[in-house]
Amino acid sequence: MSTYDVINPATEKLVTTIEHLDLSGTDAVIARAAKAFETWRHVAPGERGKMLRRFADVVAEHKEELAQLEIANSGHTRGNALWEVDNVVNVLTYYSAAPERLFGRQIPVPGGIDVTFKEPLGVVAVIVPWNFPMPIAGWGFAPALAAGNTVVLKPAEYTPLTAMKLGELALLAGIPEGVFNVLPGKGSVIGARFVTHPAVRKVVFTGSTEVGKSIMAGCADQVKRVTLELGGKSSNIIFADADIAKAAASAPGSVFDNAGQDCCARSRILIQKSAFDTFMEHFEVAVKKFRVEDPSLATADMGPLISKKQFDAVSSFLDEPVAFTGSAPTGAGYWMAPTVLLPKNTQARSWREEVFGPVVSVMTFEDEAEGIAMANDSEYGLSGSIWTRDVGRALRVSRAIETGNLSVNSHSSVRFWTPFGGFKQSGLGRELGPDALDSFTEVKNVFISND
Ligand code: NAD
Repeated sequence: MSTYDVINPATEKLVTTIEHLDLSGTDAVIARAAKAFETWRHVAPGERGKMLRRFADVVAEHKEELAQLEIANSGHTRGNALWEVDNVVNVLTYYSAAPERLFGRQIPVPGGIDVTFKEPLGVVAVIVPWNFPMPIAGWGFAPALAAGNTVVLKPAEYTPLTAMKLGELALLAGIPEGVFNVLPGKGSVIGARFVTHPAVRKVVFTGSTEVGKSIMAGCADQVKRVTLELGGKSSNIIFADADIAKAAASAPGSVFDNAGQDCCARSRILIQKSAFDTFMEHFEVAVKKFRVEDPSLATADMGPLISKKQFDAVSSFLDEPVAFTGSAPTGAGYWMAPTVLLPKNTQARSWREEVFGPVVSVMTFEDEAEGIAMANDSEYGLSGSIWTRDVGRALRVSRAIETGNLSVNSHSSVRFWTPFGGFKQSGLGRELGPDALDSFTEVKNVFISND
């Protein structure tokens, strides 16, 4: 057992010190989860649903406390932190209706009947990154529990506090011991053990593409199920026929929200050449209005970066030509002003790599074909936005862009009742929405003879 100091990224002050679980502690929790599975899987569907609704209610009752923890631990703005608690409540409520709807099929066969069942997998591991500690945890544990699995969840090293609290609230809500387990600690110890432990039947991983690839390779050894939500380099494609003022006014939020530490951040802006000057004029006003301040204030649009390490990593992109910047506080904390870059060409680092900070790169395109080609010129394919008033163009471009989540004349991309996930190296599988249960169950086919 080792200890870890949790730091407030807005002040660099110590929030608390927690204990990290070691390998034998991890094995003990996995064993408890495997044992709990034997009873949890048999809890009547209506009863399991009721327990998940109670869990949702208890989370809602602790909304302010959870939000405060996230503001202090992650530097999230108050507005975001409150939304994130609501998201956990909504996802739990949405999937609480699933146990009674885990339908199989009846398929016509001669000599008897053929039915399919959706069986739970067993112990499901959820590995969470630091950028959205609460929502990403919920997207994994809520459908996993609803489908009858038990869960072992590892929060990111930097941001364990809300996940640990959610673990306590589950017990308070009457979720039986061993069903939902939160294990704070290192990816290289706990996360790696999830991959190798034979009782863990599935790993849901959200994080960097690099670690995701190693997890996928490790899971191959036991043909372990895996869902991956990885990095992104998403485009905000703005055509000259769009409402340019509106596109410009909403662009800062689409990339600087959560200080750009968002896998869906529209960190590439593609603006049709003829509208470049007008767009940049409006965009500069919007960026300068974007409030970077103490995240506990209700007025804050953006807080600090999560760590000094992240600050340094993002700073390394700032050697490209700068169009303009917003402002940020000085002094303690990992503060960075929103920054708009004008990369020289599509080989520039800021154009190709995921920045995961408040930095956006702007380039122009001539026509629809070039816009699509530039947007698709990436190994990633997670998200994106298209701005146009032409319905035909909206449809053509939506079908042509190789990403999992697109929005037209809007930047919304993650709703808990619609599917979310990536093309190409942005991930494997889908979370949320009506079909997420399929990735937490196995289909079993049973033939029953007439004899
Ligand atoms: P990371 O890959 O370093 O860590 C993610 C999680 O994996 C952490 O809990 C970490 O402890 C754990 N981990 C690290 N090494 C491990 C190992 N060898 N085995 C098992 N687990 C291990 O990523 P991060 O820095 O925490 O998060 C930022 C990244 O996450 C960005 O690249 C971002 O794009 C991505 N992300 C993607 C989505 C999505 O839905 N696609 C959402 C959020 C974040």
